[in-house]
Amino acid sequence: MSSQVWTSIDFEKPGFQADFARVPNSSNTSAYGWLPVPMLCFNGGEGPTLLLTAGTHGDEYEGQIALRRLIRTLADTELRGRVIVLPALNQPAVIAGRRNSPLDGGNLNRLFPGSDDAGPTAMIAQYITEVLFPLTDYAIDLHSGGSSLDYLPVAFAHRGRTAEQSARLDRLLECFAAPNTVLTDGRGGGGTTTLYASANAHGIAAMTTELGGGPGLSPAGVTLGEAGVRRVLRDLRIAPGLDAPDPQRTRHLRMLPPVMTVYASANGLFEPCVKVGQEVQAGEIAGHLHGFDDVTRPSETLRFQSGGIVIFRRFPVLTAPGDALAGLAAPVTRGSA
Ligand SMILES: [Zn+2]
Repeated sequence: MSSQVWTSIDFEKPGFQADFARVPNSSNTSAYGWLPVPMLCFNGGEGPTLLLTAGTHGDEYEGQIALRRLIRTLADTELRGRVIVLPALNQPAVIAGRRNSPLDGGNLNRLFPGSDDAGPTAMIAQYITEVLFPLTDYAIDLHSGGSSLDYLPVAFAHRGRTAEQSARLDRLLECFAAPNTVLTDGRGGGGTTTLYASANAHGIAAMTTELGGGPGLSPAGVTLGEAGVRRVLRDLRIAPGLDAPDPQRTRHLRMLPPVMTVYASANGLFEPCVKVGQEVQAGEIAGHLHGFDDVTRPSETLRFQSGGIVIFRRFPVLTAPGDALAGLAAPVTRGSA
């Protein structure tokens, strides 16, 4: 093991402990210092271990607040098993209110399995991979669209590598019961470099979420994230007595490939014509792109190449070539999953 991250938490010790994952960071003002990534361990003895993370992207707030709410509940709840919580996994990005770390530009959800020689963000990923994954049976990494995307509320998971892992994964997704669930291979997202994909490769039943989006806070997203985690804690019998709201029915979707996403071809102002969750047909207008230079020229009309359900849409109006403006999913019919 090469991780240089350390903590005072003894994961085998019964009871509640709070400290940090202490990430060494030698800066101009602190030669031998460390970055504090808040970490809590609730150990109730025999039972499965659930790893809960949020703030992997600093500007996605719904999961961060859902986990902060749960921490107070967990401290007063009798558990069977262990819950490890990191509600601000990329703490430097959280404090900066940015998707990526201001220290090294690292996108934590593109750096798994991590390393010890590529800056603090990769060191966080490596610590999770080397130290926490071996302790973990189930993992939930809570994301939302953040400042750049509006997102349909969705749970994502990769398919399990064994029948046993797939069965645990099905159970996890069923307990979380997001309004929409997508089994993915990571194409169009982070591939194998995300936390949940890496956890899946380590035999963990792992899922991630999108809980809405936008630069502000979606109260519905916070509620959804907290309710899903509560159901997982209750229904996996880690906290059998925990209150949890009844789930809505889950719709199963598949992502359409990135080639079906509408992208910007030029700098300009994006005027969307569709909303997240809307069903669209091939050829339907996704939006208009208004160029900067010649304002007498008509705007460019952007159309969907395929029918589907709008699963995400760009939030900022200001747009550059290559920006993903609207992405599609499609319902999974029985037998096509
Ligand atoms: Zn994210």
